[in-house]
Amino acid sequence: MSAWVIKGAAPYGEEPTDLVVRDGVLSTGPAPKGAQVLDAAGLVVLPGLVDLHTHLREPGREDAETVETGSRAAAQGGYTAVHAMANTDPVADTAGVVEQVWRLGREAGLVDVRPVGAVTVGLAGERLAELGAMADSAARVRIFSDDGKPVHDPQLMRRALEYVKAFDGVIAQHAEEPKLTAGAQMNEGVVAARLGLTGWPAAAEEAMIARDVLLTAHVGSRLHVCHVSTAGSVDILRWAKAKGTRVTAEVTPHHLLLTDDLAETYDPVYKVNPPLRTAEDVAALRDGLADGTIDAIATDHAPHALEDKETEWGAARPGMLGLETALSVAVLAMLETGLLDWRGLALRMSATPARIGGLAPSTLDEGAPASFTLVDPAAHWTPDPAASASRSRNTPYAGRELPARVVATFLRGEPTVLDGKAVR
Ligand SMILES: [Zn+2]
Repeated sequence: MSAWVIKGAAPYGEEPTDLVVRDGVLSTGPAPKGAQVLDAAGLVVLPGLVDLHTHLREPGREDAETVETGSRAAAQGGYTAVHAMANTDPVADTAGVVEQVWRLGREAGLVDVRPVGAVTVGLAGERLAELGAMADSAARVRIFSDDGKPVHDPQLMRRALEYVKAFDGVIAQHAEEPKLTAGAQMNEGVVAARLGLTGWPAAAEEAMIARDVLLTAHVGSRLHVCHVSTAGSVDILRWAKAKGTRVTAEVTPHHLLLTDDLAETYDPVYKVNPPLRTAEDVAALRDGLADGTIDAIATDHAPHALEDKETEWGAARPGMLGLETALSVAVLAMLETGLLDWRGLALRMSATPARIGGLAPSTLDEGAPASFTLVDPAAHWTPDPAASASRSRNTPYAGRELPARVVATFLRGEPTVLDGKAVR
């Protein structure tokens, strides 16, 4: 196992110091003989980022992404752990499939891949999947989600919330009332009306969140709300938290930055579910993230093959890449606006998602696993889809200058990324 001295890095952007990596953990003692030195002057060091919401597409759509290519994109984005959503083919609704994804993650060795288990068999919303078997499997599943679809039946949702209490699991809900979103192509509002596209109303998200926080409070369980996108959702979450309901929520980088008027380009790269909303929603999401109403930033990294994305708006699959650009977009939306500092950003991109997923605490303390990311806060870069580590190309930030860049990532003492490139 290699030893490293990370010279002059600034933990959370505060006082620079030397970090010593020995036997896979952080120490402050003298550097061991033969330690490799990484000059980190001017760089910010954060605990390795943790994503609660990643689509790795394997098994089933390896043409769009594999566990390995998604892991490489994650490492290059500063992540050391990702939660892989269950809407694969076959669906991750059994111990066998979640163990397969977990094993592929271990073989890739670039990030910890934590499978998310489906709530219902085949994501069909009709009967509960083997939640207990997935929790007891080698993959130790703690988050369950039918993401891509909501758990629509309230009785089934109640039973799922009751079931996961036994092992402190959490149900992560894709909050969407499908009867209200039938045929929806973008956010319901003035832009949709102008373009003549069917709208996805904010109330379809808010109604489902309201129902679920009431069920969660009744059961005394844990709910996590995926990709919150509206100002009204933030209000409901604020109310639920004030009542002491055990609800957490995430927001994506793109919902913190992009707005629904981008649909006017008819470029399907901007088609996403839930859809991009209005500038007022973006402002409310930023405020909700800053004041802790929204707990975490999660990418909803959604790679799609060219034929599924480079088509007309109506036929294109929703979703965009996110792992390689998340930190930069978060810096743009939250740091450069003064709403968060580096410590606040690290809490929302590392420590809190780790806690929600039941992972070991993310810290830079002595004795902690040496899983961290080094960021150049002064860098500016322009994402090039052709250079992405992902197998897909659907990034909305192509050709757009972004601030801050991940320079290196370490996973338990071994570099996965050096000089901005994955080491393997
Ligand atoms: Zn979703």
